[in-house]
Amino acid sequence: MTDAAFARWRERCASQLYPVKAPSEAADPIDQPAESAADRSARIRAEQWREDLIRTSPMVRFMVKHLALVGCNPVTTREGDMQPKIHIAMCPPDIAGGFSPSAPGKPPSEAGLMVCANRMLSKTHMEDTLAHEMIHWWDHCRFNVDWSNLRHHACSEIRAASLSGDCRWSRELRRRNYGIVKQHQECTRRRAVLSVRSNPACPDEETAKRAVNEVWDACFNDTRPFDEIY
Ligand SMILES: [Zn+2]
Repeated sequence: MTDAAFARWRERCASQLYPVKAPSEAADPIDQPAESAADRSARIRAEQWREDLIRTSPMVRFMVKHLALVGCNPVTTREGDMQPKIHIAMCPPDIAGGFSPSAPGKPPSEAGLMVCANRMLSKTHMEDTLAHEMIHWWDHCRFNVDWSNLRHHACSEIRAASLSGDCRWSRELRRRNYGIVKQHQECTRRRAVLSVRSNPACPDEETAKRAVNEVWDACFNDTRPFDEIY
Protein backbone atom coordinates (compact mmCIF):
# COMPACT_ATOMS: atom_id res chain seq x y z
CA MET A 1 0.00 0.00 0.00
CA THR A 2 1.13 3.52 -0.48
CA ASP A 3 1.44 3.79 3.20
CA ALA A 4 3.56 6.91 3.37
CA ALA A 5 0.57 8.84 4.59
CA PHE A 6 0.11 6.62 7.63
CA ALA A 7 2.06 8.80 10.00
CA ARG A 8 0.74 12.04 8.55
CA TRP A 9 -2.79 10.75 8.87
CA ARG A 10 -2.11 9.65 12.41
CA GLU A 11 -0.72 13.06 13.25
CA ARG A 12 -3.85 14.64 11.82
CA CYS A 13 -5.96 12.24 13.86
CA ALA A 14 -4.06 13.06 17.01
CA SER A 15 -5.46 16.58 17.00
CA GLN A 16 -9.03 15.36 16.52
CA LEU A 17 -11.47 13.28 18.44
CA TYR A 18 -11.09 9.53 18.27
CA PRO A 19 -12.17 7.69 16.31
CA VAL A 20 -11.94 9.87 13.25
CA LYS A 21 -15.09 10.17 11.24
CA ALA A 22 -14.55 9.35 7.61
CA PRO A 23 -16.28 11.93 5.42
CA SER A 24 -18.79 9.53 3.86
CA GLU A 25 -19.74 8.12 7.23
CA ALA A 26 -19.88 11.23 9.39
CA ALA A 27 -22.95 11.58 11.53
CA ASP A 28 -24.00 15.06 10.51
CA PRO A 29 -24.64 15.36 6.77
CA ILE A 30 -24.99 19.13 7.03
CA ASP A 31 -21.25 19.37 7.71
CA GLN A 32 -20.43 17.45 4.56
CA PRO A 33 -20.15 18.83 1.06
CA ALA A 34 -22.49 17.19 -1.44
CA GLU A 35 -21.07 13.96 -2.82
CA SER A 36 -20.27 14.09 -6.52
CA ALA A 37 -21.43 11.32 -8.85
CA ALA A 38 -17.83 10.14 -9.31
CA ASP A 39 -17.21 10.07 -5.56
CA ARG A 40 -20.44 8.21 -5.03
CA SER A 41 -19.59 5.47 -7.50
CA ALA A 42 -16.04 5.15 -6.09
CA ARG A 43 -17.45 4.87 -2.59
CA ILE A 44 -20.06 2.27 -3.53
CA ARG A 45 -17.46 0.24 -5.43
CA ALA A 46 -15.07 0.37 -2.46
CA GLU A 47 -17.80 -0.60 0.00
CA GLN A 48 -18.63 -3.58 -2.19
CA TRP A 49 -14.97 -4.62 -2.39
CA ARG A 50 -14.69 -4.32 1.40
CA GLU A 51 -17.69 -6.61 1.91
CA ASP A 52 -16.44 -9.10 -0.71
CA LEU A 53 -12.94 -9.22 0.76
CA ILE A 54 -14.16 -9.69 4.32
CA ARG A 55 -16.26 -12.60 3.08
CA THR A 56 -13.95 -14.26 0.57
CA SER A 57 -10.30 -13.15 0.80
CA PRO A 58 -8.23 -15.76 2.68
CA MET A 59 -5.76 -13.06 3.73
CA VAL A 60 -8.39 -10.62 5.03
CA ARG A 61 -10.38 -13.38 6.72
CA PHE A 62 -7.23 -14.65 8.41
CA MET A 63 -6.42 -11.18 9.74
CA VAL A 64 -10.02 -10.56 10.87
CA LYS A 65 -9.87 -13.79 12.84
CA HIS A 66 -6.53 -12.95 14.43
CA LEU A 67 -7.56 -9.38 15.24
CA ALA A 68 -10.62 -10.74 17.02
CA LEU A 69 -8.38 -13.11 18.99
CA VAL A 70 -6.40 -10.16 20.36
CA GLY A 71 -9.55 -8.21 21.29
CA CYS A 72 -9.79 -5.99 18.21
CA ASN A 73 -12.53 -7.46 16.07
CA PRO A 74 -12.64 -5.21 13.00
CA VAL A 75 -16.04 -6.23 11.68
CA THR A 76 -18.46 -6.48 14.58
CA THR A 77 -18.77 -3.18 16.36
CA ARG A 78 -19.53 -3.13 20.05
CA GLU A 79 -22.98 -2.24 21.25
CA GLY A 80 -23.44 1.52 21.25
CA ASP A 81 -20.37 1.97 19.08
CA MET A 82 -21.60 3.54 15.88
CA GLN A 83 -18.22 3.80 14.20
CA PRO A 84 -17.36 1.20 11.62
CA LYS A 85 -13.79 -0.01 12.13
CA ILE A 86 -12.87 -0.05 8.46
CA HIS A 87 -13.74 3.39 7.14
CA ILE A 88 -14.21 4.09 3.48
CA ALA A 89 -13.30 7.70 2.73
CA MET A 90 -12.51 10.04 -0.13
CA CYS A 91 -9.00 11.41 0.27
CA PRO A 92 -6.59 13.96 -1.19
CA PRO A 93 -4.11 12.59 -3.74
CA ASP A 94 -1.28 11.92 -1.30
CA ILE A 95 -3.23 9.48 0.88
CA ALA A 96 -4.39 5.93 0.09
CA GLY A 97 -5.40 4.97 3.57
CA GLY A 98 -3.94 4.41 6.98
CA PHE A 99 -4.17 2.88 10.38
CA SER A 100 -5.40 5.03 13.24
CA PRO A 101 -4.22 3.78 16.63
CA SER A 102 -6.38 4.31 19.67
CA ALA A 103 -5.59 7.51 21.56
CA PRO A 104 -3.05 7.19 24.37
CA GLY A 105 -4.77 5.80 27.45
CA LYS A 106 -7.72 4.46 25.44
CA PRO A 107 -8.27 0.74 24.84
CA PRO A 108 -6.64 -0.66 21.68
CA SER A 109 -10.06 -1.82 20.52
CA GLU A 110 -10.81 1.82 19.61
CA ALA A 111 -8.28 1.71 16.79
CA GLY A 112 -9.51 1.58 13.22
CA LEU A 113 -8.39 1.93 9.67
CA MET A 114 -9.27 4.03 6.69
CA VAL A 115 -9.23 3.08 3.03
CA CYS A 116 -9.44 5.83 0.41
CA ALA A 117 -12.10 4.84 -2.11
CA ASN A 118 -10.78 7.20 -4.76
CA ARG A 119 -7.24 5.79 -4.52
CA MET A 120 -7.99 2.07 -4.82
CA LEU A 121 -6.91 0.79 -8.22
CA SER A 122 -8.53 -2.62 -7.94
CA LYS A 123 -9.98 -5.10 -5.51
CA THR A 124 -6.52 -6.68 -5.23
CA HIS A 125 -5.05 -3.29 -4.37
CA MET A 126 -7.62 -2.96 -1.60
CA GLU A 127 -6.83 -6.47 -0.39
CA ASP A 128 -3.15 -5.58 -0.07
CA THR A 129 -4.01 -2.29 1.60
CA LEU A 130 -6.24 -4.01 4.14
CA ALA A 131 -3.63 -6.70 4.80
CA HIS A 132 -0.89 -4.12 5.38
CA GLU A 133 -2.96 -1.96 7.70
CA MET A 134 -4.38 -4.96 9.54
CA ILE A 135 -0.85 -6.07 10.42
CA HIS A 136 -0.26 -2.65 12.03
CA TRP A 137 -3.60 -3.07 13.75
CA TRP A 138 -2.68 -6.53 15.06
CA ASP A 139 0.67 -5.21 16.35
CA HIS A 140 -1.16 -2.35 18.05
CA CYS A 141 -3.60 -4.69 19.82
CA ARG A 142 -1.09 -7.43 20.56
CA PHE A 143 1.84 -5.35 21.75
CA ASN A 144 2.24 -2.09 23.58
CA VAL A 145 3.33 -0.16 20.48
CA ASP A 146 4.51 3.42 20.89
CA TRP A 147 4.02 4.84 17.37
CA SER A 148 6.20 7.85 18.11
CA ASN A 149 9.09 5.47 18.86
CA LEU A 150 10.79 4.99 15.48
CA ARG A 151 12.07 1.50 16.34
CA HIS A 152 8.55 0.39 17.21
CA HIS A 153 7.18 1.97 14.04
CA ALA A 154 9.99 0.46 11.93
CA CYS A 155 9.29 -2.99 13.31
CA SER A 156 5.63 -2.85 12.38
CA GLU A 157 6.41 -1.45 8.91
CA ILE A 158 8.91 -4.24 8.23
CA ARG A 159 6.31 -6.81 9.20
CA ALA A 160 3.50 -5.10 7.28
CA ALA A 161 5.53 -4.79 4.08
CA SER A 162 6.89 -8.31 4.31
CA LEU A 163 3.73 -10.16 5.30
CA SER A 164 1.14 -8.32 3.20
CA GLY A 165 1.16 -8.42 -0.59
CA ASP A 166 3.23 -5.23 -0.82
CA CYS A 167 6.38 -6.95 -1.99
CA ARG A 168 4.95 -9.70 -4.11
CA TRP A 169 7.00 -10.44 -7.16
CA SER A 170 4.37 -9.30 -9.70
CA ARG A 171 4.03 -5.99 -7.95
CA GLU A 172 7.78 -5.50 -7.91
CA LEU A 173 7.94 -6.31 -11.62
CA ARG A 174 5.49 -3.53 -12.26
CA ARG A 175 7.76 -1.26 -10.27
CA ARG A 176 10.63 -2.41 -12.53
CA ASN A 177 12.69 -3.88 -9.74
CA TYR A 178 14.17 -6.87 -11.53
CA GLY A 179 16.78 -8.02 -9.06
CA ILE A 180 16.03 -11.53 -7.91
CA VAL A 181 18.44 -12.13 -5.06
CA LYS A 182 17.02 -10.85 -1.80
CA GLN A 183 14.41 -9.03 -3.80
CA HIS A 184 11.73 -9.51 -1.20
CA GLN A 185 13.98 -8.28 1.60
CA GLU A 186 15.09 -5.25 -0.38
CA CYS A 187 11.52 -4.31 -1.19
CA THR A 188 10.52 -4.72 2.44
CA ARG A 189 13.44 -2.63 3.64
CA ARG A 190 12.86 0.13 1.09
CA ARG A 191 9.16 0.43 1.89
CA ALA A 192 9.73 0.33 5.65
CA VAL A 193 12.27 3.17 5.38
CA LEU A 194 9.81 5.24 3.31
CA SER A 195 7.05 4.79 5.86
CA VAL A 196 9.24 5.50 8.88
CA ARG A 197 10.57 8.58 7.09
CA SER A 198 6.99 9.94 7.02
CA ASN A 199 6.64 9.63 10.80
CA PRO A 200 6.52 13.17 12.23
CA ALA A 201 9.04 12.04 14.86
CA CYS A 202 11.59 11.14 12.15
CA PRO A 203 13.98 14.00 11.29
CA ASP A 204 15.63 12.55 8.16
CA GLU A 205 16.25 9.58 5.88
CA GLU A 206 19.36 8.45 7.75
CA THR A 207 17.40 8.17 10.99
CA ALA A 208 14.72 6.14 9.23
CA LYS A 209 17.33 3.77 7.76
CA ARG A 210 19.02 3.38 11.12
CA ALA A 211 15.73 2.54 12.87
CA VAL A 212 14.92 -0.09 10.24
CA ASN A 213 18.41 -1.60 10.43
CA GLU A 214 18.38 -1.76 14.20
CA VAL A 215 15.24 -3.87 14.38
CA TRP A 216 15.55 -5.68 11.05
CA ASP A 217 16.58 -9.18 12.16
CA ALA A 218 14.09 -9.46 14.98
CA CYS A 219 11.17 -8.00 13.07
CA PHE A 220 11.70 -9.48 9.61
CA ASN A 221 11.84 -12.91 11.20
CA ASP A 222 8.80 -12.30 13.37
CA THR A 223 6.00 -13.54 11.13
CA ARG A 224 3.23 -13.74 13.71
CA PRO A 225 0.32 -14.33 13.33
CA PHE A 226 1.48 -16.19 10.19
CA ASP A 227 3.47 -19.36 10.46
CA GLU A 228 5.66 -18.16 7.63
CA ILE A 229 5.62 -15.72 4.72
CA TYR A 230 3.03 -16.95 2.28
ZN1 LIG B 1 2.47 0.82 7.08
